Amino acid sequence: MIGAGVVGLSCGIRLLESGYVTRIVSRDVSPDTVSDIAAAWWYPFLAEPVEKTTRWSIETYQELLRLKHEFQLGFITMRKGVEYLVEPSPPPKWSDGISHFRILNIDEVVEGYKSGWEIEAPVIEMAHYLPWLMERFLMLGGDVQEGFISSLSEVEGELVVNCTGLGARELCDDEEVVPVRGQIIYIEQDPGFGRFDQRPENLIYTIPRRDVTVLGGTAQRGDWHGGVRESDTVEILKKCSVLWPELDRSKIVGKAVGLRPSRSEVRLEVDRSSGKTVIHNYGHGGAGVTLSWGCADEVVALVSRMNQQ
Ligand SMILES: Cc1cc2nc3c(=O)[nH]c(=O)nc-3n(C[C@H](O)[C@H](O)[C@H](O)COP(=O)(O)OP(=O)(O)OC[C@H]3O[C@@H](n4cnc5c(N)ncnc54)[C@H](O)[C@@H]3O)c2cc1C
Repeated sequence: MIGAGVVGLSCGIRLLESGYVTRIVSRDVSPDTVSDIAAAWWYPFLAEPVEKTTRWSIETYQELLRLKHEFQLGFITMRKGVEYLVEPSPPPKWSDGISHFRILNIDEVVEGYKSGWEIEAPVIEMAHYLPWLMERFLMLGGDVQEGFISSLSEVEGELVVNCTGLGARELCDDEEVVPVRGQIIYIEQDPGFGRFDQRPENLIYTIPRRDVTVLGGTAQRGDWHGGVRESDTVEILKKCSVLWPELDRSKIVGKAVGLRPSRSEVRLEVDRSSGKTVIHNYGHGGAGVTLSWGCADEVVALVSRMNQQ
């Protein structure tokens, strides 16, 4: 396998649980992956195709809850969040698969919006979750090596699972993979519930974790700038104050930037064009955490189908 972000580690765990000898080779590990920057609220944002992301996201929702309860993971918390909409819209297809979904009464909708809904979903603290995934991977017998792969044909083993996120652009010569830059702000203040405007061109979120609330955001397509921009900080605070007027700027404790691995569609398929059998699993955009377990299960299903042929 290549890649030790949330997508690679989840896949690695599933392969080990299914009895496959598994090694991950990765250029970076936590805390240096894009996955470390994820906010991380369960929500299928900026990821296609919808028929598949709906299924993968519901499977992941259920798995995150199972892990939380079975392993007593305090760093996965269930939080309420309200999404405001500028136009009334039918409930999203994933709404049937989650534990709480409710259309807002009109008097609950903030000025400037026409409708909205309330959901309950997992918030995952990646600084704890990624090390936990790594520990579980190792505990199940997995092996991790640091290294950069410049060609799929050079990877050892019968099967390669490619979970390189944005790195797939170069590795697979896949120009469909583009960065969607996200800047966030950490603030030591709890908004009570998450507040969202999920339109990429006006992205707003306040995601409460146990330690800080994550404020966002930006979704700047094709922007490779990895540093914090002051102009984005100003804009994020302005937008978040609309949904959360009590926001107290004196409580800001940090900022971060990550480049989401966006693609027209998540690439999850078998490919033999390099001379090796490769299963690609990349291009999860703004929803790598949200889709991680559903995609991992699909990778395992592809592997076992190949073994039966
Ligand atoms: C600001 C921000 C907020 C976000 N919020 C959320 C959220 O609330 N919910 C959500 O679900 N998602 C969120 N996301 C999206 C999420 O972070 C990504 O979809 C997810 O991290 C992608 O995971 P990944 O494992 O594919 O990629 P990465 O985490 O980038 O991992 C890729 C791995 O591959 C390795 N690699 C790459 N190329 C090579 C190579 N050639 N050789 C060896 N190793 C290689 C890298 O070193 C790395 O280990 C957010 C993203 C950002 C930036």
